[in-house]
Amino acid sequence: MTVRTRFAPSPTGYLHIGGARTALFSWLYARKHGGRFVLRIEDTDLERSTAESVNAILEGMTWLGLEYDEGPFYQTERYPRYKEVIQQLFDQGHAYHCYCSKEELEAMREEQMAKKQKPRYDGRCRHRTAPRDGVEPVVRFKNPTEGAVVIDDLVKGRVVISNAELDDLVIARPDGSPTYNLTVVVDDADMEIDYVIRGDDHLNNTPRQINILKTLGIEPPKYAHLPMILGDDGKRLSKRHGAVSVMQYREEGYLPEAVLNYLVRLGWSHGDQEVFSVGEMIELFDLDNCNKAAATFNPEKLRWLNHQYLMNSDPAHVAHHLSYHLGSLEIDPSEGPDIIAVVEAQREKAKTLVELAQVCAFYYRDPEEYNAKSAKKAFAGDAATVLAELRDAMAAMSEWTRASIHATLQHVVDTLGVGFGKVGMPARLAVTGGAASPDLDLVLFLVGKDACVRRFDKAIAFIKGHA
Ligand code: GLU
Repeated sequence: MTVRTRFAPSPTGYLHIGGARTALFSWLYARKHGGRFVLRIEDTDLERSTAESVNAILEGMTWLGLEYDEGPFYQTERYPRYKEVIQQLFDQGHAYHCYCSKEELEAMREEQMAKKQKPRYDGRCRHRTAPRDGVEPVVRFKNPTEGAVVIDDLVKGRVVISNAELDDLVIARPDGSPTYNLTVVVDDADMEIDYVIRGDDHLNNTPRQINILKTLGIEPPKYAHLPMILGDDGKRLSKRHGAVSVMQYREEGYLPEAVLNYLVRLGWSHGDQEVFSVGEMIELFDLDNCNKAAATFNPEKLRWLNHQYLMNSDPAHVAHHLSYHLGSLEIDPSEGPDIIAVVEAQREKAKTLVELAQVCAFYYRDPEEYNAKSAKKAFAGDAATVLAELRDAMAAMSEWTRASIHATLQHVVDTLGVGFGKVGMPARLAVTGGAASPDLDLVLFLVGKDACVRRFDKAIAFIKGHA
């Protein structure tokens, strides 16, 4: 049998870390087993669901590379089907109209609380024979009153809930619209989902969903409830912890693989391995290795992972993602040195693509200013004369290679009878403005002859202007 998993977000906001982790685990499980990954948009909450949220979720999944095989299916397009199932439950005597008013339900609740009982609907409309005039009823599912629901959760282990703790839940509102537990059950059944992987905030819905499925004569799927994600203060992860939209991580300069790698370790482990390629994740992932305990969100670890990926990924891949961030600095990398060579030269100097774009910018545009602290030292004394000598020597070069650049630098050092630093320091500052940079001959080589000469002129003018 083909494994079928799903991701079923409610489009009431962007794709956040928790949602992305659920999507990743479902996707990995399907990929690992050569199965199908279904995307279902649970948009029945008309007031809170928006098209922008749907787009944000799709955008986030695309950026992460979590491609779905079927869908997106929209629940709002499936109302006739839900109606049909509600009617079926009704016709078979498994559902009934409930006319209880808000006040009545509230009174029931208060009475139960006073008796120290768990508040639950007591089923009083189960045996009602006549409608109540002027009241549009809800439809309630007749939950079994005896026995227990056993969930052999693939992450949590066995969970047993007595039916006495459950009540007759509302499956249709007065306007006939279906509620969450009903739509999920119908969809999971119709879409032949056999593994429901989701956050454990849904665990208390599961026995209700299993009861409805069983009543409909459908074998329930297997469930895997993933532990919560906590912030470093032990509280449930929220915006306060910087747990923003997945796309915000793109803006902040993270590679999608680093985010995926980070997400996979939020609730799953494989020995003490920390870095997993997507291929390795697919190969090694299993629900057995998911943690039962809550995971803690750690932004520093994400930065560390991102650095690993910046350092070790194919430079062309890094360059592809870097282009976006250079674009944010209004730099068009096609108008300058080869971006792949620039990535190779600079990548160890940054933990995010935003930082990398900043330290790569000087390859594509002349410095507007010089780091003041460095200028005090590098542009002191007779730096203008040194730079003028270097400028002329470089302008006269016919061949522009790292070796010939190195030779010219050495030649100027020898002519002036100074240490290498006397030439190297002002030259580096003139060309980079003070950004972190690798070997000087490599920097000059990549920046190019014309730009170097121009930048030396500019630095000479600057030094003279500040003398
Ligand atoms: N739509 C639900 C949510 O976004 C998920 C339902 C489910 O996975 O069963 O929380």
